[in-house]
Amino acid sequence: MADRAAKSGTQSFSRIKGTQDILPADMPQRHLLEETIGAVMGRYGYREIRTPVFESTELFQRSVGAATDIVNKEMYSFEDQGGKSLTLRPELTAPVVRAYLQNNLGKELPLTRLYYLGDLFRQERPQKGRHRQFGQFGAEALGSPYPEQDVEIIALAWELCRAVVPEGLDLRLNSLGNPEARQAYLALLKQALAPHAAAMGDRDRQRLETNPLRLFDTKDPDTQALLDEYAPLISDNISDEDQDHFGAVKAGLDSLGIAYEHDKKLVRGLDYYSRTTFEITSAALGAQDAVCGGGRYDGLVAELGGPATPAVGFAAGIERLLLAAGEAFRLAAEQPGLDVYLAVIGDGPRAKAPSMAGALREQGVSVMLETLRRSLKAQLREANRSGARYTVILGEDELAKGVCTVKDMADGGQQEVGLEALAVRFAELLAS
Ligand code: ATP
Ligand code: MG
Repeated sequence: MADRAAKSGTQSFSRIKGTQDILPADMPQRHLLEETIGAVMGRYGYREIRTPVFESTELFQRSVGAATDIVNKEMYSFEDQGGKSLTLRPELTAPVVRAYLQNNLGKELPLTRLYYLGDLFRQERPQKGRHRQFGQFGAEALGSPYPEQDVEIIALAWELCRAVVPEGLDLRLNSLGNPEARQAYLALLKQALAPHAAAMGDRDRQRLETNPLRLFDTKDPDTQALLDEYAPLISDNISDEDQDHFGAVKAGLDSLGIAYEHDKKLVRGLDYYSRTTFEITSAALGAQDAVCGGGRYDGLVAELGGPATPAVGFAAGIERLLLAAGEAFRLAAEQPGLDVYLAVIGDGPRAKAPSMAGALREQGVSVMLETLRRSLKAQLREANRSGARYTVILGEDELAKGVCTVKDMADGGQQEVGLEALAVRFAELLAS
């Protein structure tokens, strides 16, 4: 390849690091996942929304928060010709809330249930299950402050992840309380850890300064040990109302028979979360084992200039779910088979073939047409390779008689069929 490019003086190109080519063989699983998402979301009353791939950089700075990894170092931002800073979306909650406000969706319904599916962009270090362009789907319920709404979102996320990965999923849950109580807690946390700052790596020491809650995400075992020994836990430092809310969420999950673990060290990356936070992980994955994350974000709508609106949602990673997909899901995602390979020999048949194929396709029959003018032998080999259920052969003699030969590829049986009757005949054959 490289040689050929060098010889001809042309350049050859590779995809950009961290991006993926999703090949035809990968598509059936993606399609099945997309269908499942649409069907399950529909059964819960969520409607799809699509927003642009890029937004103003400020939207993410305001919502995701300046002290997060996403905003600090993962965003693909650029200036357009007018000098405006734009960013390829690194997440979809902020764009969905922006669209919800801009299109007045909250005025139509007191409770708005939306779902999305699309690609995100984050400049992370690529590894298994971590890409720079990747797919996510998620749901947002805007309007209800009550725990039953948290329960609905968690149940929806759980059902969708389980549809792809029926075994080995774990749901972990925590409460981050309300933002006011969190300020007091963060002060407490800083105070407790400040004497040990010198024992931390640079990155964690910086987190302690700017975003101490994120210390709980550390991969550094020394910091983890410090946290275990000295850090107060957020869910022990939330208000009574927040405790009640969390209790009601857990009771709601219990009543649905959804098992969870209260993970007191679970905090989530984005600044805008309040109260419930949750994560679903898969035992089938390695280091990148989170397939889904979500929670309540009661302050975000107001932060983005809207009326105070409680909200809760989740986002799940498509590639990671597909990596962890169970056998049943993989088997169900079969490539749709080809019905007919149309082999033609001679000028007359070649001229006739496109309209024949058209008549078949009108009946819902899938047809692949020979366009390489190969020998009959080569065409029959191709028909075999294509996996078609039938091969239809049309030569000059047959055309003159107004017939073609239909070969059943499963048993090799052949019959002559009149050209006029062919499309109807196939519709019957394939229906049976
Ligand atoms: P992680 O801790 O793995 O970085 P995150 O907290 O950044 O995840 P979210 O922003 O909550 O993840 O996104 C929700 C889901 O999107 C994750 O659970 C994961 O399945 C998926 N995801 C996140 N980042 C990537 C990525 N770079 N490549 C592929 N999938 C990703
Ligand atoms: Mg991340």
